[in-house]
Amino acid sequence: MHELSIASGLVEKLLEFSAHNPERTILEVRLEIGELSHIDSEQLRFCYESIAKETPLEGSILTIARVPAIVSCPHCTYRGRPDYWDEALAIAPVMTMRCPHCGKAVEAEQGHECAIKSVRLLDTHTAPSV
Ligand SMILES: [Zn+2]
Repeated sequence: MHELSIASGLVEKLLEFSAHNPERTILEVRLEIGELSHIDSEQLRFCYESIAKETPLEGSILTIARVPAIVSCPHCTYRGRPDYWDEALAIAPVMTMRCPHCGKAVEAEQGHECAIKSVRLLDTHTAPSV
């Protein structure tokens, strides 16, 4: 359960921010997750919501953006989307770390990220009371 440890690390970081900025409420957290990180967005959101319960983060929204993988080939000049095995039997296309041009091993440039992109806050001092 990869997602649980990511979610708890995330909540920990946000609670720390919240402790230092008690006048600001975290409304939304935007995360970027790379295609190669093997993180299940739904699982992660579920874990986040369960951990955030009964903390100042309760009710905040976790928005997850997928970052497509970009690979580069050290053997030729290829740089771009990785190659996929698009087999009829596969449920989803399987990514291969193989160059679509020369067939040799490629290196991932982008796609392993798992980072907070931005956080949307509500400043309770300036916000009109509802
Ligand atoms: Zn190549």
